[in-house]
Amino acid sequence: MTEKVPSVYLHIPFCASKCYYCDFNSYVNKEHLIEEYFNALKSEINKGAEFLAEYGSHDTGTELETIYVGGGTPTSVPPRFISSVVSLVTDRYKMTSDPEITIECNPGTVNDNKIKEYKSCGINRISIGLQSSSDRILKSIGRNHTYEDFLRTFDLFTKNGFENINVDIIEGLPGQSLKDFSDTVNAVINTGAKHVSVYSLSISEGSKFYRDSDSIMKSLPDDEDERMMYHYARKALISSGLHHYEISNFAIPGFESMHNLFCWKGERYLGFGAGAHSFIGNRRSANMSEPEEYIRRVENSESTDYFPASETLELLSDSDLENEFFLLRFRLIDGISKTDFRNKFGKSLDTYIEKLDKLISEGYLVENDDRLIMTLRGLDYANNIFAEFV
Ligand code: SF4
Repeated sequence: MTEKVPSVYLHIPFCASKCYYCDFNSYVNKEHLIEEYFNALKSEINKGAEFLAEYGSHDTGTELETIYVGGGTPTSVPPRFISSVVSLVTDRYKMTSDPEITIECNPGTVNDNKIKEYKSCGINRISIGLQSSSDRILKSIGRNHTYEDFLRTFDLFTKNGFENINVDIIEGLPGQSLKDFSDTVNAVINTGAKHVSVYSLSISEGSKFYRDSDSIMKSLPDDEDERMMYHYARKALISSGLHHYEISNFAIPGFESMHNLFCWKGERYLGFGAGAHSFIGNRRSANMSEPEEYIRRVENSESTDYFPASETLELLSDSDLENEFFLLRFRLIDGISKTDFRNKFGKSLDTYIEKLDKLISEGYLVENDDRLIMTLRGLDYANNIFAEFV
């Protein structure tokens, strides 16, 4: 087996409070589980290393290129836990000489000592969730920080030598005007962040906003306003030197998220922690979501059970993998290469000629030599493209 497995994801599910739009696998008031949780995480990381040794991937010249510590709020737990699991991965797995190691951070959750510990274990990329520069909006979406907290946090990281920093913002929030949003975009540009992710609010089941949707729906910007927000962000970020490389992502060239690029390119990965997903070969699995159950399953597992906390297992058919290729690759601004498709699946993209011609004739895609890429209309209505491949 020569399959490349370039990425590892570590999930830290603890948060100080629950944001009103959040349906991620995150929990409040479970700090008493932190010690046990990280012990289970270490056990799973060790099993993953044994799995890869047996699977052959890291013996065949491929190496781990990215580690992503996400959550939850990974920066809310004592930093020694974070450094212990990151160091375990870098010790146990064959690494490239310059891996990208990201940690997600919420404003106001770090200090100098924490940041120094992150740095000493090799973390070199920070992703900060700002969401909005308006304190009024931050409060109304249940964020437990202010814009000032964000500025202080950003400053602390840069003072400690971190250059590769992403900032997440959200468009389409309740009560958000175009001015609120453009102020946020401009505030992020002023920080000099090397990477910006612009997400669109989605109200998912499990969030407080979903439960309150009768009242929330009335305060959402309409579709046209939201489209204007996206266009504003795109134009302003590009004018300030970031390039648009994925529907929601902008970066100074050289600062793109390698970890996410691997995912969008369909590379394989291992995920550890509650609710984390792994994708190896055609096998995608997801761990138990509840931290207590996750810990119990890992603690009680046999030594040769490499995926001890796995709750669901999906075996993808060739056609699933091809559809997924379209769903992920069309997110990238440089689109799909016909040669890549042929190399990956051993057949011509013409197999999908009917669907692709339809999307071209509707103005969502354009053909450019070897590539099929989204038009501006495609960016606005990307879901219409994806619907063809679901
Ligand atoms: S900080 Fe992130 S993970 Fe935690 S509740 Fe808010 S959105 Fe969810």
